[in-house]
Formats: sequence, C-alpha cells, structure tokens
Amino acid sequence: MDFHNTDDSVTRRIKAMTDRISGLKANDLYFYNQPVEEILPGSKVRVNGREMGMYASYSYLGLVGHPRINEAAKKAVDKFGTGTNGVRTLAGTLTIHTELEETIANFKHAEAAITYSSGYATNLSVISTLMGRGDYVFSDKLNHASIVDGCLMSGAEFRRFRHNDMAHLEGLLKNAPADVAKLVIADSVFSMDGDIIDLPKMLELTKKYHAWLMIDEAHSLGVLGKKGTGIEEYFGLGDEIDIKMGTLSKTIPSVGGYVAAKKEIITYLRHASRAYIFSAALPPAQAAAANEAFKVILDEPERVEKLNLNTKQFIGGLKSMGFDTMLTETAIVPVLCGEDDVAFAMTREAQHKDVFVLPVVSPAVPEGLARLRATVTAAHDPSEIERAMDVIGEAGKKLGIIK
Ligand SMILES: *Cc1c(COP(=O)(O)O)cnc(C)c1O
Repeated sequence: MDFHNTDDSVTRRIKAMTDRISGLKANDLYFYNQPVEEILPGSKVRVNGREMGMYASYSYLGLVGHPRINEAAKKAVDKFGTGTNGVRTLAGTLTIHTELEETIANFKHAEAAITYSSGYATNLSVISTLMGRGDYVFSDKLNHASIVDGCLMSGAEFRRFRHNDMAHLEGLLKNAPADVAKLVIADSVFSMDGDIIDLPKMLELTKKYHAWLMIDEAHSLGVLGKKGTGIEEYFGLGDEIDIKMGTLSKTIPSVGGYVAAKKEIITYLRHASRAYIFSAALPPAQAAAANEAFKVILDEPERVEKLNLNTKQFIGGLKSMGFDTMLTETAIVPVLCGEDDVAFAMTREAQHKDVFVLPVVSPAVPEGLARLRATVTAAHDPSEIERAMDVIGEAGKKLGIIK
C-alpha cells in the first residue's frame, strides 16, 4: 500500500485492518457484510442463493414485512413522497412526524417524545446536549458505543462503573462533587451479553444522589414486559426514567431513534440538540412504518409471548448441551467460545450448515471472551430453533467447546 508515499499512523492503521480482513477471507472465516438477497418468512434469509435460518436479527418480534406496517409506509409515500423539505425545525416537520412522536410518548407512558434519524445520532446528540464541561456522567462499562461517544463528545467528566455493579456506581456518585449536574446512563438490555440492568437499584441511587437517569432501550423495546413496552413495565415501575431512549431500527422495523421524557426536556432538545436542528427529518415512509409498528406491538401481544417462549427454548437448550451463555435472560444469547479464532471457526461451521449467526470478537468484547452472538425472534418456529441448536452443538463438539 502506498498512500501519499508515507508510512504514518493512518497508513499503518489501515494496513493492520486490511491485513486482518484478508487473512480471515483467505481462511474462509469472514462472514461480515454478507449481502442478503431476500428476507423470507419465519426469520429466514436468502444468502448466496441459500435459504438460511436467521440468528443475527434484531427484529425481535418479527415485524419486518408485516402487512400493516408495509401498507402504512406505502400510503405515506403516496401522500408525502420519499423525502422532506429539509430539517424538521424549518420546513421538514410533517404531520406523520408529530403523529409518530405522540405514539411513542403514549407507548412509553411519557409526556412527549422527539425523534432523530438514527439511534446512534440520538445518543450522541442527546447526551452531548444535556451534559457539558464540569458536569459528571456515569456510564456502565458495557454500554453501547453510541453512549460512550456521546459522553466523550459532551466534554463532561466521564466515570465508568463496573458492569451492572451498583455498589461501584454508588461509590463513584458519592465521590463526585455534590453541586454538579450528574447523569447516570445504561443500556436496559446489554447488546453483547443479553443481561438486564438493575433498574430498581439504579433508580434508588439516582434519587439519593440527585442524578438524572437515562436508559437506552434498543434491546428491550418489544422484548421486556408482558406487553413489550420495555424495562419499566418489566420491573413494575411507572414513568420513572428521566430520559427514555430507544431506536426505531430493531424491534421497530424502520430506522431512527427517539427520546421520550417530560415536555420541557423534549422542548429543550428540539431547540438545542444539533442532530435534530442540523440533520434532515426521517423519511415519511420510515416515520409511518415506525408509527404503525408501535400499534402492532400493542395489538398483537402474542408476539411478545412467543418471543419469550422461543428465548427460553434457545437459552435452555444451549445450556443443557453445556454451552456458557453468560448471564443472558433475553433474546440476545451469547455462546461463549473463548479465543477469537474459535468464534470465527464456530461461525464457519454454523454458516456452512445454513445457520446465519455471527461472531463478536476483540476489541468489541474482552480477549478470551469471544462468542457467537445469536439472537432469537418471535418469527422462529420451535423446530427451526431445535435444528439451529443441533448445528451449533455439533460445531461446539468439533471445536472442543463442549463435550
Ligand atoms: C443499535 C443500538 C443503538 C443504535 O441504534 P441505531 O438506530 O442502529 O443507530 C444504540 N444503542 C444500543 C444499545 C444499540 O444496540
């Protein structure tokens, strides 16, 4: 490689990455960025002409392609076209945006809501708008990258507490000056491990130390609670979280992110957060799809129930074969492999037998904790889950992960 005739740090970083990728490809161990040709019913996909069981989907309730949601999107295109007249603040706000935000506020039992064009942009913009120099943010060590980036961008003092360790969080809160603004922030369900934040204890601490509380519900919306409304329902709590953040790209089969909160907070964000003011509005079709999806979740609670059954089957089955699924209680199921190489090899075995699953390796997770990160959805059929577990089990034996 010869860029600008230099061997500077940028060149070396690019080379290190491209070398790692070509090494994996040479050994048939690279399974990222695969083009999915078709999304089929029953949580299946067609890849390279082969029909595969999809175990890497965030569509937890199987809502991708739902007729009501597709129809809403099509109607919105007929009515509004495919784009907007610009940013929301100036000419970009459509009635469908306002409708969507009301739907979200109702769903989350909050006073109001605001939407952004992605979940990533939501965290980045909301955290850095609320917090600034001299303030303190307290973030779980396993929080999503968009939270970490938002905290860093804010310029606030950044304190990380050990994963789900409320005693550690309390120690950090106690050590912070009493008179500064504080924000405690965590994923509701952790995206690599599938475990659930100890919200009741966290709530108690934020009250005791007068801190704001923000929870990212990317993996709990549609997943936690009998009705699927999320983590507050799961713990039997009312409207307790100050900043309820979520994405419209996982359970909700669209794209975008939201925050639901008190009216004044939403008004403030609408006039101060830069991803809202300086970036285009959600496309009408995506806003309408998201709006309809929240309603479908409430109208079809059997999907949430099915997801819970499938999750129990999947976790229980893998555990009984001897796999370590860490602390997951949700649809995100880590299958611990150990070294990166083993996780890549497990992926190859599974993919060759038409189980679409992906590895998570360092630096996304600590070294030695590489894993398959399998997800299960309401669209899976129990017999398909059984087959996927057979495939994963066989691979685990072949690679010496289980006996
Ligand atoms: C996926 C995810 C996001 C980002 O959401 P996008 O809408 O995909 O940008 C934020 N937080 C968590 C925890 C996520 O898993």
